[in-house]
Amino acid sequence: MSKYCIGVDLGGTNIAVGLIDLDLKAIVKSLSVKTNAPRSCESISDDIAEICRRLCAMQEIEMGDLEWIGVASPGVIKGDEVVVAFNLGWKNVKFVDILSKRTNRPVYIANDANAAAYAEAVWGSGKGAKSLIAFTLGTGVGGGIIIDGKIWEGNNGFAAEMGHAVIVPGGRTCGCGKRGCIEAYCSATALIRETKRMMGLYPESLMWKYVEGNLDRVNGKTAFAAMEQGDPCGKILVDEFIDYLALGISNAINIFQPDVVCVGGGISREGENLMRPLREKVYHESFGIGVMRTKVVCATFRNDAGIIGAALLGLQNK
Ligand SMILES: [Zn+2]
Repeated sequence: MSKYCIGVDLGGTNIAVGLIDLDLKAIVKSLSVKTNAPRSCESISDDIAEICRRLCAMQEIEMGDLEWIGVASPGVIKGDEVVVAFNLGWKNVKFVDILSKRTNRPVYIANDANAAAYAEAVWGSGKGAKSLIAFTLGTGVGGGIIIDGKIWEGNNGFAAEMGHAVIVPGGRTCGCGKRGCIEAYCSATALIRETKRMMGLYPESLMWKYVEGNLDRVNGKTAFAAMEQGDPCGKILVDEFIDYLALGISNAINIFQPDVVCVGGGISREGENLMRPLREKVYHESFGIGVMRTKVVCATFRNDAGIIGAALLGLQNK
């Protein structure tokens, strides 16, 4: 019989739950409900337990057949506890105890970005990597650190805030209140802001054509698309974006020398247009020899990274 476990992607808006077949390495059934945050951990755990029961029934298995339940949660996680999760309204919540009492299954929990990094190290583009550092380029810049096959939470759960490492002292203001953070240069938000600023300076740029003259239609792809058509403004934006990202990534490599650095999030969909020049710059700025160099790769998992990462958490303790 197949081995099953469940992965829960607890988000601020939705709770997405997937039943995973560990032999098939795939999500075989999934359901989602609204989070309706802020709400107590007990109430959310009641919902999660109910969805787990429904998924088991759909697959015609018992709850007792589940190897474990893994949860990817927002906020700061240390061990079995949520230290703080602002969007859920939680502080020092014993999530693992609360959910395992309701399901009678072993429960594991990790921060969502850390779980996504773990998914890449186990089943994704870093498959088999003992050490991996993830940079996720989205609204902000998230991250995850895997060392010796385990998530590194730091002494307090606050580790792996790659986005808030400073690369430009006194530079652009970041949402965290500091200046010059990676997030202020390498998030989709930062790229979009710079794209709009550049378009304001250069009305002849091809980028205006891509958005049909409408600044509200600028997104993380605009500069890349224009660059591909030979637009100098697009190229300046992309080059600058990659310069800053390479700086952040090579800092991480020079400190950790992981097997793999994994780049994810919306902007990673540019694929080799982003990765090829990025790799070149990173290799120029980081130490390493031949085949022993850190591999710099694009993330495999997209929307299901949370569910898969959560589901695989049980493997951490094997
Ligand atoms: Zn910051």
